[in-house]
Amino acid sequence: MSGLREECGVFGVFSTFKQDTAKAAYYGLFALQHRGQESCGIVVNDDGVFNYYKDTGIVNDVFTAEVLDELKEGNMAIGHVRYGTADTKDRLNSQPMVVNHHKGRMALANNGSLVNAPELRKKLELEGSIFHTKSDAELISYLITKARLETGSIEDAINIAMNQLKGAYTLVVMSPAKLIAVRDPQGFRPLCYGQKDDGTYIIASESCALDSVGAKFIRDVEPGEIVIFDREGIRTIKDHCNKMQEKLCIFEYIYFARPDSIIEGVSVHEARKKAGACLALEHPVQADVVIGVPDSGLDAAIGYAAQSGIPYGIGFIKNKYIGRTFIAPGQKSREDKVRIKLNVLSATVKDKRVVIVDDSIVRGTTIAKIVKRLRDAGATEVHVRSAAPPFTDPCYYGTDVDSKENLIACKHTLDEICKIIDADSLGYLNVNHLNMLIGKTDNSEFCYSCFTGNYPTEVPEGTIEDKFTKHLSEKE
Ligand code: SF4
Repeated sequence: MSGLREECGVFGVFSTFKQDTAKAAYYGLFALQHRGQESCGIVVNDDGVFNYYKDTGIVNDVFTAEVLDELKEGNMAIGHVRYGTADTKDRLNSQPMVVNHHKGRMALANNGSLVNAPELRKKLELEGSIFHTKSDAELISYLITKARLETGSIEDAINIAMNQLKGAYTLVVMSPAKLIAVRDPQGFRPLCYGQKDDGTYIIASESCALDSVGAKFIRDVEPGEIVIFDREGIRTIKDHCNKMQEKLCIFEYIYFARPDSIIEGVSVHEARKKAGACLALEHPVQADVVIGVPDSGLDAAIGYAAQSGIPYGIGFIKNKYIGRTFIAPGQKSREDKVRIKLNVLSATVKDKRVVIVDDSIVRGTTIAKIVKRLRDAGATEVHVRSAAPPFTDPCYYGTDVDSKENLIACKHTLDEICKIIDADSLGYLNVNHLNMLIGKTDNSEFCYSCFTGNYPTEVPEGTIEDKFTKHLSEKE
């Protein structure tokens, strides 16, 4: 319920024989739907012929049975689900990108955000490049195809292009004969691969998508690694590995990823339970029941209840047939959707002192409404616990954390926020305890910059969006 937006999920299939790879991509993207709901696309590779379809909307709506039939069979496919931030939210910016270049063709899907996109784009534009979209995926495609002119293989071209990329990018790239998985050297976003019993390889942002197509998890792609799947088998290029400190986004565990995913050996569900247990130790309270805000606050609530000894209860029933709250643009529609989406189970909270656990608090508007709903249902006390520290700064690595002026923790003290949301007490997870969620000894191996403002890369001065939202003069 945090109101944060993940940008994307990526998926890839490689097989040595022709099969319904479009269907596999469809199921994989369906499992990754939580990572982006504004547009989606699939490209099928049928012996070097790329058939593709992409559009705005969720996977189930965009890929009807007829559309999947049209995509035909192939031995490879890649897919993408997307939430747009720097880009516009139209069909043109949907991914995967498909490009025809001097040496052939390529399809590419990306999850992340480059911190040097404006400079790279300017450099290419001054060399005569023309862009059709505002997305990093098109920019990265340009750099790879340009490098491809001077290299003998697509993987070498990717390796060279990576020298210029700064920030977060997680790619699946498909050439006529190869499927390639790439993770940036700091590993901001997750990426893993697995294999089905028939030998088909699957690449996905999260392991839950491997499960959805019956593939067994093999391993995570390492930060900086390029993994190539072709008829010869699997090869890797590690020229960009171990050059930088890993900075996997801690918010993948707290909110973005599905609880049934395992990222870098850590169960997302277990990480969230640990966040709840830490909260119980940091912010204990006398109460009768612990409830969670569905869905991403539930695991932390279970952890809080187990640690505190206070019984866990189901406090809200969620209408599952509505998109995540954040899909709706604008404050008004967001609020309306919260009311429609969650209904209080008054039998759990009436005449009780309630601890309500949410994954995080961004603007504070959603949790304020939830507190009111609990009081209206007869809760005698409402104690709010956030499984994330207070948000203080924006994210430059592919998450749409709200602007500083909208972050409630930037404008108010803890006591003020507690009053604003009308809670009896309020407690956030301590930023220094984030490492405990994933069994690290300290906070050095992951990104948590939106809670501190200390970034592991340069910070971009402007965005591509800035450039296109300014009016051009008549002369131009
Ligand atoms: S700034 Fe926050 S949301 Fe962005 S990558 Fe880092 S931890 Fe994740």
